[in-house]
Amino acid sequence: MDVITVEPGAGEPTRLERPRPEPGSGEALVRTLRVGVDGTDREVIAGHHGEPPEGADRLVLGHEAVGVVEKPGGTDFAVGDVVVPTVRRPPNGSNAYFERGEPDMAPEGEYVERGIAGADGFMAEYVTSPAEDLVPIPEDLAHLGFLVEPVSITEKALEYALASREPFEWDLESALVLGNGSLGLLTLAILTDVLEVERAYCLGRRDRPDPTIDFVEDLGATYVDSRETPVPEIPDVHEPVDLVYEATGYARHAFETIEALAPNGVGALVGVPGDWEFEIDGGRLHREFVLHNKALVGTVNSNRDHFEAAVDTLGDLPDWVFEDLVTGVYGLEEYEKAFDERDDVIKTAVEFDSL
Ligand code: NDP
Ligand code: ZN
Repeated sequence: MDVITVEPGAGEPTRLERPRPEPGSGEALVRTLRVGVDGTDREVIAGHHGEPPEGADRLVLGHEAVGVVEKPGGTDFAVGDVVVPTVRRPPNGSNAYFERGEPDMAPEGEYVERGIAGADGFMAEYVTSPAEDLVPIPEDLAHLGFLVEPVSITEKALEYALASREPFEWDLESALVLGNGSLGLLTLAILTDVLEVERAYCLGRRDRPDPTIDFVEDLGATYVDSRETPVPEIPDVHEPVDLVYEATGYARHAFETIEALAPNGVGALVGVPGDWEFEIDGGRLHREFVLHNKALVGTVNSNRDHFEAAVDTLGDLPDWVFEDLVTGVYGLEEYEKAFDERDDVIKTAVEFDSL
């Protein structure tokens, strides 16, 4: 079967032949339909993040997959069920985080991530997975199933952010998404169209015309250019916001989020920056944090509950959102195109097969 692999740091993925995997006990064999590409894959390809399985020199890419059960093995699935695999697996047997269904809360060393770190991913014509790591999705969402994993990241981030505001009377009326990459834009659509936030903003650093700016405006949100309006100026130029969702990976934004928030507001940080030393007025930020009851939560990965919530959320979003957001789905013959980085590329996927 064909697989798409990368030698970390090689700078580009390679298509190879590998034997079809044999499911172990409690595992199903899944025929892969589509696998999405995101910023994390680009980081892995560039060699900034991730690693191959122990003892291997290559990693099979892909962590945003949808497939169809080909052989249920001893599992409760039936042939033809459409499923989305979760990403984390225990490194050696199981551990407490996996046993209680919270692999996303496991610290480093207590997990591997398929297609990212220490375990082969889903960019293969067939994959195997334990039944408990496969989330069923309705057949009519199969073509969008590769978006379940990224949406699950946002389900978790919003769950954690909103939970911190639960003890008191709090209305989410305004929200700011930092970053117009695929994760930021998907989240913006969830905020405006599912959570029905009245006033939404999305920060980028692009000139018009740009498809991501069009998308922001088609959602009824306001585009903020960080070169004209840096994050700390957003309260004066627009308004202080109840919620910030940081999806740039630009480290200053984590701290500037405190300044963009309205009193009692909350920021969710999902971007993953590299090391960067810079100056901040720590005293002012600390004071602002405390005197206005602000909160920041950092979150990574997601668990099965978030995948299930993401399936519902995908079903709630209007079709035009996906038509605009998914800018390319490419067959194996032209898989390289799915990894292109141009300003007119928002979200892409490699298609291995169809239903
Ligand atoms: P992208 O790289 O596609 O998107 C990041 C976006 O932020 C880009 O559009 C970029 O603009 C914009 N940006 C960066 N710096 C600035 C700035 N200073 N001002 C304005 N805009 C800026 O990544 P994704 O959307 O795939 O993911 C977003 C982040 O979330 C990444 O850091 C990723 O690593 C992280 N991530 C975290 C997960 C988690 O579990 N916590 C899971 C998945 C992703 P431009 O394109 O114009 O350069
Ligand atoms: Zn992803």
